[in-house]
Amino acid sequence: MKYGAIEAGGTKFVCAVSNENLEIIERVSIPTTTPDETMKSVFEFFDKYNLEAIGIGSFGPIDVNRKSKTYGYITTTPKLAWANYNFVGIIKDRYNIPIGWTTDVNAAALGELKKGAAFGLQSCVYLTVGTGIGGGAVINGQLLEGYGHPEMGHILVRMHNNDKYEGACPYHSNCLEGIASGPAIEERWGKKAYELEENKEVWKIEAFYLAQAVMTYTLILSPERIVLGGGVMKQRQLFPLIRKEVEQLMKKYVAMPNLDEYIVPPALGDNSAIMGCLLLAQKTNENV
Ligand code: ADP
Ligand code: ZN
Repeated sequence: MKYGAIEAGGTKFVCAVSNENLEIIERVSIPTTTPDETMKSVFEFFDKYNLEAIGIGSFGPIDVNRKSKTYGYITTTPKLAWANYNFVGIIKDRYNIPIGWTTDVNAAALGELKKGAAFGLQSCVYLTVGTGIGGGAVINGQLLEGYGHPEMGHILVRMHNNDKYEGACPYHSNCLEGIASGPAIEERWGKKAYELEENKEVWKIEAFYLAQAVMTYTLILSPERIVLGGGVMKQRQLFPLIRKEVEQLMKKYVAMPNLDEYIVPPALGDNSAIMGCLLLAQKTNENV
Protein backbone atom coordinates (compact mmCIF):
# COMPACT_ATOMS: atom_id res chain seq x y z
CA MET A 1 0.00 0.00 0.00
CA LYS A 2 1.48 3.33 -1.06
CA TYR A 3 0.51 6.94 -0.45
CA GLY A 4 1.39 10.00 -2.48
CA ALA A 5 1.98 13.53 -1.20
CA ILE A 6 2.30 16.89 -2.95
CA GLU A 7 3.49 19.96 -1.08
CA ALA A 8 2.73 22.60 -3.68
CA GLY A 9 4.70 25.76 -2.98
CA GLY A 10 5.13 28.98 -4.90
CA THR A 11 8.75 28.17 -5.78
CA LYS A 12 8.78 24.38 -5.75
CA PHE A 13 6.58 21.31 -5.57
CA VAL A 14 7.83 18.55 -3.29
CA CYS A 15 6.33 15.17 -4.19
CA ALA A 16 6.78 12.03 -2.12
CA VAL A 17 5.64 8.44 -2.04
CA SER A 18 5.48 6.47 1.20
CA ASN A 19 4.69 2.95 2.29
CA GLU A 20 1.71 2.23 4.54
CA ASN A 21 3.73 3.24 7.60
CA LEU A 22 4.23 6.65 6.03
CA GLU A 23 7.95 6.03 5.58
CA ILE A 24 9.09 7.94 2.51
CA ILE A 25 10.30 5.71 -0.32
CA GLU A 26 11.07 8.40 -2.88
CA ARG A 27 10.81 12.15 -3.11
CA VAL A 28 11.48 14.82 -5.71
CA SER A 29 11.54 18.57 -5.84
CA ILE A 30 10.12 20.17 -8.97
CA PRO A 31 10.33 23.90 -9.77
CA THR A 32 6.97 25.72 -9.86
CA THR A 33 6.80 27.14 -13.38
CA THR A 34 3.68 26.81 -15.52
CA PRO A 35 0.98 24.29 -14.59
CA ASP A 36 1.61 22.28 -17.79
CA GLU A 37 5.33 22.00 -17.23
CA THR A 38 5.22 21.39 -13.48
CA MET A 39 2.38 18.87 -13.63
CA LYS A 40 4.14 16.92 -16.38
CA SER A 41 6.98 16.23 -13.95
CA VAL A 42 4.54 15.50 -11.12
CA PHE A 43 2.82 12.85 -13.27
CA GLU A 44 6.13 11.36 -14.37
CA PHE A 45 7.00 10.88 -10.73
CA PHE A 46 3.71 9.35 -9.56
CA ASP A 47 3.03 7.28 -12.71
CA LYS A 48 5.66 4.77 -11.52
CA TYR A 49 3.52 3.85 -8.52
CA ASN A 50 0.17 2.30 -7.86
CA LEU A 51 -1.09 4.70 -5.17
CA GLU A 52 -4.03 4.29 -2.75
CA ALA A 53 -4.54 8.00 -2.22
CA ILE A 54 -2.79 11.36 -2.60
CA GLY A 55 -2.68 14.21 -0.09
CA ILE A 56 -2.11 17.73 -1.40
CA GLY A 57 -1.09 20.75 0.67
CA SER A 58 -1.11 23.76 -1.59
CA PHE A 59 -0.15 27.42 -1.63
CA GLY A 60 -3.22 29.53 -1.96
CA PRO A 61 -5.67 30.92 -1.62
CA ILE A 62 -7.41 27.67 -2.53
CA ASP A 63 -11.01 26.49 -2.48
CA VAL A 64 -11.59 23.91 0.27
CA ASN A 65 -15.35 24.30 0.43
CA ARG A 66 -16.90 21.02 -0.69
CA LYS A 67 -20.16 22.76 -1.56
CA SER A 68 -18.42 25.09 -3.98
CA LYS A 69 -18.25 24.56 -7.75
CA THR A 70 -14.58 25.36 -7.63
CA TYR A 71 -13.68 22.98 -4.77
CA GLY A 72 -10.13 21.78 -5.36
CA TYR A 73 -9.05 24.88 -7.27
CA ILE A 74 -6.22 27.25 -6.57
CA THR A 75 -8.21 30.49 -6.77
CA THR A 76 -6.93 34.06 -6.59
CA THR A 77 -3.19 33.53 -6.34
CA PRO A 78 -0.88 36.32 -7.52
CA LYS A 79 0.99 33.56 -9.40
CA LEU A 80 -1.25 34.19 -12.39
CA ALA A 81 -0.48 31.01 -14.34
CA TRP A 82 -1.98 29.08 -11.44
CA ALA A 83 -5.03 31.25 -10.80
CA ASN A 84 -8.34 29.33 -11.13
CA TYR A 85 -6.43 26.08 -11.57
CA ASN A 86 -8.42 22.89 -11.01
CA PHE A 87 -5.69 21.10 -9.08
CA VAL A 88 -7.72 18.27 -7.51
CA GLY A 89 -9.63 17.74 -10.78
CA ILE A 90 -6.43 17.31 -12.78
CA ILE A 91 -4.96 14.80 -10.32
CA LYS A 92 -8.26 12.94 -10.01
CA ASP A 93 -8.56 12.68 -13.82
CA ARG A 94 -5.17 11.05 -13.99
CA TYR A 95 -5.35 8.62 -11.07
CA ASN A 96 -9.00 8.36 -9.99
CA ILE A 97 -8.12 7.67 -6.35
CA PRO A 98 -9.11 9.55 -3.15
CA ILE A 99 -7.47 12.98 -2.99
CA GLY A 100 -6.95 14.90 0.26
CA TRP A 101 -6.83 18.65 -0.24
CA THR A 102 -5.87 21.46 2.11
CA THR A 103 -3.44 24.35 2.47
CA ASP A 104 0.30 23.82 2.82
CA VAL A 105 0.18 25.24 6.34
CA ASN A 106 -2.80 23.13 7.44
CA ALA A 107 -0.81 20.13 6.18
CA ALA A 108 2.21 21.30 8.16
CA ALA A 109 0.07 21.63 11.30
CA LEU A 110 -1.17 18.06 10.80
CA GLY A 111 2.38 16.80 10.26
CA GLU A 112 3.68 18.49 13.41
CA LEU A 113 0.68 17.30 15.44
CA LYS A 114 0.90 13.64 14.48
CA LYS A 115 4.64 13.21 14.04
CA GLY A 116 6.44 16.31 15.26
CA ALA A 117 6.56 19.08 17.85
CA ALA A 118 2.94 18.66 18.95
CA PHE A 119 2.99 14.86 19.06
CA GLY A 120 0.50 13.42 21.51
CA LEU A 121 -1.69 16.54 21.59
CA GLN A 122 -5.11 17.17 20.01
CA SER A 123 -4.51 20.63 18.62
CA CYS A 124 -1.83 22.91 17.31
CA VAL A 125 -1.29 25.97 15.16
CA TYR A 126 1.51 26.04 12.59
CA LEU A 127 2.72 29.44 11.41
CA THR A 128 5.29 29.91 8.68
CA VAL A 129 7.23 33.16 8.63
CA GLY A 130 9.01 33.25 5.29
CA THR A 131 8.44 34.96 1.96
CA GLY A 132 4.89 35.33 3.21
CA ILE A 133 3.23 34.53 6.51
CA GLY A 134 0.65 31.77 6.66
CA GLY A 135 -0.92 29.71 9.37
CA GLY A 136 -2.89 26.52 9.63
CA ALA A 137 -4.33 24.57 12.50
CA VAL A 138 -5.60 21.23 13.61
CA ILE A 139 -8.18 21.53 16.37
CA ASN A 140 -9.46 18.42 18.15
CA GLY A 141 -7.82 16.34 15.45
CA GLN A 142 -9.59 18.18 12.58
CA LEU A 143 -8.03 20.50 10.02
CA LEU A 144 -9.34 24.00 10.60
CA GLU A 145 -11.50 24.86 7.59
CA GLY A 146 -14.86 26.55 7.22
CA TYR A 147 -16.28 28.59 4.39
CA GLY A 148 -12.68 28.87 3.32
CA HIS A 149 -9.40 28.30 5.09
CA PRO A 150 -7.60 30.45 7.64
CA GLU A 151 -5.35 33.24 6.35
CA MET A 152 -3.56 33.83 9.62
CA GLY A 153 -0.84 35.94 8.04
CA HIS A 154 -3.16 38.78 7.16
CA ILE A 155 -4.38 39.69 10.65
CA LEU A 156 -4.01 43.28 11.82
CA VAL A 157 -1.51 44.10 14.53
CA ARG A 158 -0.47 47.22 16.47
CA MET A 159 2.54 49.01 15.05
CA HIS A 160 5.67 49.34 17.16
CA ASN A 161 6.31 52.95 18.19
CA ASN A 162 9.77 52.93 16.62
CA ASP A 163 8.66 51.37 13.35
CA LYS A 164 7.89 53.70 10.49
CA TYR A 165 7.77 50.99 7.83
CA GLU A 166 4.59 51.20 5.77
CA GLY A 167 4.20 47.52 5.01
CA ALA A 168 4.40 45.41 1.87
CA CYS A 169 1.08 43.54 1.65
CA PRO A 170 -0.52 44.48 -1.68
CA TYR A 171 -3.97 44.11 -0.09
CA HIS A 172 -3.59 45.52 3.44
CA SER A 173 -0.16 47.23 3.54
CA ASN A 174 0.62 46.77 7.22
CA CYS A 175 -1.09 43.50 8.12
CA LEU A 176 1.15 40.95 9.89
CA GLU A 177 2.55 39.60 6.62
CA GLY A 178 3.05 43.14 5.36
CA ILE A 179 5.34 44.08 8.23
CA ALA A 180 6.85 40.84 9.54
CA SER A 181 7.57 38.60 6.51
CA GLY A 182 11.16 38.03 5.34
CA PRO A 183 10.83 40.55 2.48
CA ALA A 184 9.31 43.13 4.89
CA ILE A 185 12.30 42.78 7.23
CA GLU A 186 14.65 43.18 4.28
CA GLU A 187 12.91 46.23 2.89
CA ARG A 188 12.67 47.93 6.28
CA TRP A 189 16.32 47.41 7.18
CA GLY A 190 17.87 47.37 3.68
CA LYS A 191 19.72 44.06 4.18
CA LYS A 192 19.08 40.33 3.83
CA ALA A 193 17.35 39.00 6.95
CA TYR A 194 20.16 36.56 7.76
CA GLU A 195 22.68 39.44 7.61
CA LEU A 196 20.79 41.23 10.38
CA GLU A 197 21.36 38.49 12.95
CA GLU A 198 23.42 40.75 15.25
CA ASN A 199 21.03 43.71 15.15
CA LYS A 200 18.97 43.37 18.33
CA GLU A 201 16.42 46.02 17.35
CA VAL A 202 15.43 43.97 14.26
CA TRP A 203 14.43 40.93 16.28
CA LYS A 204 12.86 42.94 19.09
CA ILE A 205 10.45 44.51 16.62
CA GLU A 206 9.89 41.20 14.81
CA ALA A 207 9.09 39.49 18.12
CA PHE A 208 6.74 42.34 19.03
CA TYR A 209 4.64 41.54 15.95
CA LEU A 210 4.84 37.75 16.10
CA ALA A 211 3.88 37.80 19.79
CA GLN A 212 0.71 39.71 18.94
CA ALA A 213 -0.07 37.03 16.36
CA VAL A 214 0.53 34.27 18.91
CA MET A 215 -1.74 36.11 21.36
CA THR A 216 -4.54 36.39 18.79
CA TYR A 217 -4.36 32.72 17.76
CA THR A 218 -4.30 31.75 21.44
CA LEU A 219 -7.34 33.85 22.29
CA ILE A 220 -9.37 32.59 19.35
CA LEU A 221 -8.34 28.95 19.02
CA SER A 222 -6.85 27.96 22.35
CA PRO A 223 -4.48 25.46 20.76
CA GLU A 224 -2.29 23.28 22.92
CA ARG A 225 0.86 24.32 21.05
CA ILE A 226 2.00 26.88 18.48
CA VAL A 227 4.75 25.84 16.08
CA LEU A 228 6.65 28.66 14.38
CA GLY A 229 8.53 27.70 11.21
CA GLY A 230 9.74 29.18 7.94
CA GLY A 231 13.00 30.89 6.98
CA VAL A 232 12.75 33.84 9.38
CA MET A 233 12.31 31.54 12.38
CA LYS A 234 15.79 30.15 11.68
CA GLN A 235 16.75 33.15 13.82
CA ARG A 236 16.32 31.08 16.96
CA GLN A 237 16.86 34.10 19.23
CA LEU A 238 13.31 35.07 18.27
CA PHE A 239 11.79 32.30 20.37
CA PRO A 240 12.68 33.64 23.83
CA LEU A 241 11.87 37.18 22.68
CA ILE A 242 8.43 36.12 21.47
CA ARG A 243 7.70 34.16 24.65
CA LYS A 244 8.64 37.14 26.80
CA GLU A 245 6.50 39.49 24.76
CA VAL A 246 3.52 37.10 24.83
CA GLU A 247 3.78 36.94 28.60
CA GLN A 248 3.76 40.73 28.84
CA LEU A 249 0.86 41.12 26.43
CA MET A 250 -1.35 38.48 28.03
CA LYS A 251 -0.87 39.75 31.57
CA LYS A 252 -1.90 36.32 32.85
CA TYR A 253 -5.45 36.89 31.57
CA VAL A 254 -5.85 33.30 30.40
CA ALA A 255 -4.12 30.16 31.56
CA MET A 256 -1.50 28.99 29.08
CA PRO A 257 0.92 26.08 29.02
CA ASN A 258 4.53 26.75 29.97
CA LEU A 259 5.61 29.11 27.18
CA ASP A 260 8.86 27.23 26.54
CA GLU A 261 6.72 24.26 25.56
CA TYR A 262 3.93 26.29 23.98
CA ILE A 263 5.85 28.35 21.41
CA VAL A 264 8.27 26.02 19.67
CA PRO A 265 10.13 25.39 16.38
CA PRO A 266 9.03 22.55 14.08
CA ALA A 267 10.40 19.13 14.99
CA LEU A 268 10.19 17.89 11.40
CA GLY A 269 12.39 20.64 9.97
CA ASP A 270 11.40 21.23 6.36
CA ASN A 271 9.27 18.07 6.28
CA SER A 272 6.24 19.22 8.30
CA ALA A 273 4.02 19.78 5.27
CA ILE A 274 5.05 16.74 3.23
CA MET A 275 4.45 14.52 6.27
CA GLY A 276 1.08 16.21 6.75
CA CYS A 277 0.21 15.47 3.12
CA LEU A 278 0.99 11.78 3.61
CA LEU A 279 -1.15 11.73 6.76
CA LEU A 280 -3.91 13.42 4.80
CA ALA A 281 -3.65 10.81 2.05
CA GLN A 282 -3.93 8.06 4.65
CA LYS A 283 -6.86 9.75 6.38
CA THR A 284 -8.69 10.38 3.11
CA ASN A 285 -8.23 6.76 2.10
CA GLU A 286 -9.60 5.51 5.43
CA ASN A 287 -12.64 7.79 5.22
CA VAL A 288 -13.72 6.69 1.75
P1 ADP B 1 9.19 30.32 1.47
O1 ADP B 1 8.42 31.16 2.42
O2 ADP B 1 9.42 31.00 0.15
O3 ADP B 1 8.63 28.94 1.32
P2 ADP B 1 11.29 30.33 3.45
O4 ADP B 1 10.40 29.82 4.54
O5 ADP B 1 12.68 29.80 3.41
O6 ADP B 1 10.65 30.08 2.03
O7 ADP B 1 11.33 31.89 3.60
C1 ADP B 1 12.17 32.69 2.85
C2 ADP B 1 12.34 34.02 3.59
O8 ADP B 1 12.94 33.76 4.85
C3 ADP B 1 13.21 35.02 2.88
O9 ADP B 1 12.59 36.30 2.92
C4 ADP B 1 14.51 35.03 3.68
O10 ADP B 1 15.04 36.30 3.79
C5 ADP B 1 14.08 34.56 5.05
N1 ADP B 1 15.15 33.72 5.61
C6 ADP B 1 15.64 32.56 5.11
N2 ADP B 1 16.66 32.10 5.89
C7 ADP B 1 16.79 32.99 6.90
C8 ADP B 1 17.64 33.07 8.04
N3 ADP B 1 18.60 32.16 8.29
N4 ADP B 1 17.48 34.13 8.86
C9 ADP B 1 16.53 35.06 8.62
N5 ADP B 1 15.71 35.03 7.58
C10 ADP B 1 15.83 34.01 6.72
ZN1 ZN C 1 -2.32 41.33 4.04
